[in-house]
Amino acid sequence: MCDYEEFIWSCEHSDFRLKSYCHKARNNPGHACNFVKRLRNCWDQGRPCDACLAKQAAAAAEAHGRMMSGWYGSNQGGRA
Ligand SMILES: [Zn+2]
Ligand SMILES: [Zn+2]
Repeated sequence: MCDYEEFIWSCEHSDFRLKSYCHKARNNPGHACNFVKRLRNCWDQGRPCDACLAKQAAAAAEAHGRMMSGWYGSNQGGRA
């Protein structure tokens, strides 16, 4: 059994990370292990995962861009 840790993100995603290989996996060239994975630790991260943070940042940038173009657009209203 290989040891894993789980990272729980506030967006309800979770990540499994390998903590250490068991003897069997260590001796296997591909580190394959057909035993049950053993979860050693659960880390509550209290923040969204990187993918969701990136998505949030992209959405915020897009919203900001929309807001700015709207602002500029209204300023150009007097243009013939
Ligand atoms: Zn293992
Ligand atoms: Zn996420």
